[in-house]
Amino acid sequence: MLVVVLCCTGATASLPADMVDAKELIPDLVLDMRYATTNNFLKKKLYPVERCLLRRNAAAALSRAADLLRKQGFRIRIWDCYRPHAIQKLMWQAHPVRGYVAPPQPGSVHNRGGAVDVSLADLDGKDVEMPTDFDDFSTRANLHSMNHSKDVMARRKILRDAFEAAGFHGIRSEWWHFEAAGADRFPVLDVPLDAQPAANR
Ligand SMILES: [Zn+2]
Repeated sequence: MLVVVLCCTGATASLPADMVDAKELIPDLVLDMRYATTNNFLKKKLYPVERCLLRRNAAAALSRAADLLRKQGFRIRIWDCYRPHAIQKLMWQAHPVRGYVAPPQPGSVHNRGGAVDVSLADLDGKDVEMPTDFDDFSTRANLHSMNHSKDVMARRKILRDAFEAAGFHGIRSEWWHFEAAGADRFPVLDVPLDAQPAANR
């Protein structure tokens, strides 16, 4: 039986049937899920497991972006995917600044399983220099910031072009954040990241 928690109860439930583990779909994805570590702006481990879950259409778009980037010598480094609503509330309490952290109401597209935070790695999985680190809440994170080297700005454009061609759109305040087309129609979820897949997948 499929049980979906529509928001805010914090109760344990199965994952919706259309939630996909992106690493299974894209084996060369470089998992660097910062909220599963203490290397994030809250300096706290917020996720029990390092797992990139996305709605099926967002995962398919991510796979298309990975294909486009691989041809140019890059792999996708992934910093965040689906984010349970309870974690969104913690983040908003710590940093209530719109444009960088979405307020719990209406919630982030991450809470709907339709947004990703991404950077680039080379084909060996090693980091390449990008405009900023993840969750840099400065103007240097702005998509149009010119305060970077030519090479860095070129890679930022390669990333954005690939994600837009694959069916995502970006936001101005964070060069690393992309939302799959139509993802805001999905409900906000508060299913934990270590929840079991729905039985009818
Ligand atoms: Zn994001």
